[in-house]
Amino acid sequence: MTTTHGPQRHFASDNYAGICPEAWAAMAEANAGHAPGYGDDRWTTAAADLLRETFEADCEVFFVFNGTSANSLALASLCQSYHSILCHEAAHVETDECGAPEFFSNGTKVLTLPGADGKLDPAGVDHMVERRSDIHYPKPRVVSLTQATELGTVYRPEEIAAIGERARAHGLRVHMDGARFANAVAALGVAPKELTWRAGVDVLCFGGTKNGMAVGEAVVFFDRALAAEFDYRCKQAGQLASKMRFLAAPWVGMLRDGAWLRHARRANEMAALLEAALRAVPGVRLLHPRQANAVFAALPEGAGEALRARGWRFYDFIGGGSRFMCAWDVTEADVRALAADLAQVASR
Ligand SMILES: *Cc1c(COP(=O)(O)O)cnc(C)c1O
Repeated sequence: MTTTHGPQRHFASDNYAGICPEAWAAMAEANAGHAPGYGDDRWTTAAADLLRETFEADCEVFFVFNGTSANSLALASLCQSYHSILCHEAAHVETDECGAPEFFSNGTKVLTLPGADGKLDPAGVDHMVERRSDIHYPKPRVVSLTQATELGTVYRPEEIAAIGERARAHGLRVHMDGARFANAVAALGVAPKELTWRAGVDVLCFGGTKNGMAVGEAVVFFDRALAAEFDYRCKQAGQLASKMRFLAAPWVGMLRDGAWLRHARRANEMAALLEAALRAVPGVRLLHPRQANAVFAALPEGAGEALRARGWRFYDFIGGGSRFMCAWDVTEADVRALAADLAQVASR
């Protein structure tokens, strides 16, 4: 079988992509000369200020290397070892972090809930909290939401607020895994505050990597009291960057002129285009509502293998079916080439 496309870009994950020009340029600017280490530099200050502007809140901000540490350390800061964290059964903190949230919190238990389209709902939260209140059950302490979800859907502001309200009523905190927060904001077209502190989110792990940075996530505490001694947690976990300016500068590049939303919007648009193209391929069945930058589909027998033989990369292990994730730099030509190859292999 011949490779018709020989793709430069894949649909496996947005972390296959390179660094976007805005993040790259800011790193180059930060590379001019010396600056103090461990975050005492102007880039770190500027990035934190831009995040406060973006969220229209006096939040406390920390920069770490990756999402697993951001989530784990943020969750650990909300919990004691005898607490529990409620999340969706497909949540990255449960399925893809190798037990790091439990490890960094010294044993806090992750409790999983089902939910349509990768989302939790208020009734599910009520049920998990109310089914037990005795001393033998790990005391629920945090609800963790993923935005956009692992199944490529997004929580609307009122959905987050409804869960936030139930969490408050039960004395729980709300954590948000925002590895693809930018895609959710772009998809919904609302102010970032409407998806976070105004809806009851206490701490957000805001993803930079999948949005077009080389590396780095921002941990954003809307309740500053929860950030007490978080700097020590980061240092102990090996997450305090010595040359912090290179974790911070890309945020400046992304946030100062809205590049984070441009890239996310475009990735979402490419996913919408792919969705439409896949709908037209006989035998392909779309699986979850396409709301951000991922398309999930059940492919005809053998089609996945044939696509891979043509050089395409995508995942099969999340949410059933095949996942096609659009990164910030995926082009219309990439999408059309993928769809054309799929149409060919599906018709054999
Ligand atoms: C990619 C991703 C993360 C971060 O993963 P790391 O590899 O640790 O950076 C977190 N949550 C979700 C939902 C993700 O997709």
